Amino acid sequence: MPAQGTHSARPCHSMSTSFQPHKAGDLHFLKRLNRSAILELVRRTPGLTRADIATQAQLTKATVGAGVQSLLQQGWLREGELQKSSGGRPGRALHLNDDNHVLFGAEVGVHGLRLVACTLSGQVLVSHHEHLVPTTPEVTAELLGELLRTLMASRHVAGRQSLGLGVALPGPIAPGKPVLRLAPNLGWRDIRFLDLLRPHLTLLEGTWLMDNEAKSAAFGELYFRTGQIPESLVYVSAGTGIGSGMVEGSHLPLVTRGMQGLAGEIGHTVLQPGGLYCHCGNRGCAETLVSGWSIRAALGIAEEEDLVATLLPRLNDSDVQVTLRRAGEALGVLLLNLHHAQNPSEIVLGGSLTQLGEPLLEPALAYFKANQNRLLGTSQQVPLRVIEDSTFVAARGAAAQVLASIIHGPSDLLQASF
Ligand SMILES: [Zn+2]
Repeated sequence: MPAQGTHSARPCHSMSTSFQPHKAGDLHFLKRLNRSAILELVRRTPGLTRADIATQAQLTKATVGAGVQSLLQQGWLREGELQKSSGGRPGRALHLNDDNHVLFGAEVGVHGLRLVACTLSGQVLVSHHEHLVPTTPEVTAELLGELLRTLMASRHVAGRQSLGLGVALPGPIAPGKPVLRLAPNLGWRDIRFLDLLRPHLTLLEGTWLMDNEAKSAAFGELYFRTGQIPESLVYVSAGTGIGSGMVEGSHLPLVTRGMQGLAGEIGHTVLQPGGLYCHCGNRGCAETLVSGWSIRAALGIAEEEDLVATLLPRLNDSDVQVTLRRAGEALGVLLLNLHHAQNPSEIVLGGSLTQLGEPLLEPALAYFKANQNRLLGTSQQVPLRVIEDSTFVAARGAAAQVLASIIHGPSDLLQASF
């Protein structure tokens, strides 16, 4: 279960496990910890040898040898090329084995369902995007179940062992409970979405969990990274609404949640006191200035129409240009405020609105770059990366959370076979 404090690495599980606290010296538990450490090292630095792992994890060569053997047999790792080592005998490079397991991830967006099946290293095997007019949680769960069953039956997935399903949702999640507290742009409140989904997916095995979409996206952007991993990362999701997620730490990234799961709800920070009414009931929230729904309202675009597809041919219209420039300026203010509130090592900007390109992004990035160093003039420029097509980022991130919960959590999917 997730932690109750302001930081929690784990998203909200609905599945109980048979895990019990272990006594000190429990050999089985220690073996499991060793396998977890080995898997985590290879995951972050592909190509390590057994000798490298022994040094980095401060384990004996015999312990590493036994753990690696078990992980090879269970299909978690594979051996690669012979690596030279300084002094000692050459050793086989170890990599995650992408051929045996599958992680499922799904995002319930306000206007669409996005699904992926991916490997241990985050490679997407198959994906699907279904446009959707906002509807009830029950109808959404039934449709998502049907689409996931189709994904499970695809030839890319057949024969693989399912490790589980992560679902990303457009609103704050109750800390410690698998409950979507509120999805303001869908009008949903206190929804146990996994409970609605489960009857439609009785054959999907493994760990099930759910989280806020921006938090899932942030987690996946850090967790599936290899090599140079930033200390912390903020993902800004600019779509129908605007949210953000922050993760810190390269070992097991911690997600900032806040006491009520509201941390990162930047769309409801107020930029214009007394301004227009927001879907949350307050006035002048950031979403009233920059969000898919406020752009629709300003330009008279109906819910049934795809916002980006409708706007792309109209980017030279003066009303569209004025609306997107204003929205972009507000986005720049939000980015600068995030930089000063959280000072992450990297900011990643995604969400469907980035597909609108220059008319929205240029004013946002220009404002951010011009102002980010005023407070601390000598500070290094914080990298801001724009993902032009982030359709599956949150779904893939939810799949990453499933993997992390298995490697670091109490799941018995990583149990020893020896
Ligand atoms: Zn609001």
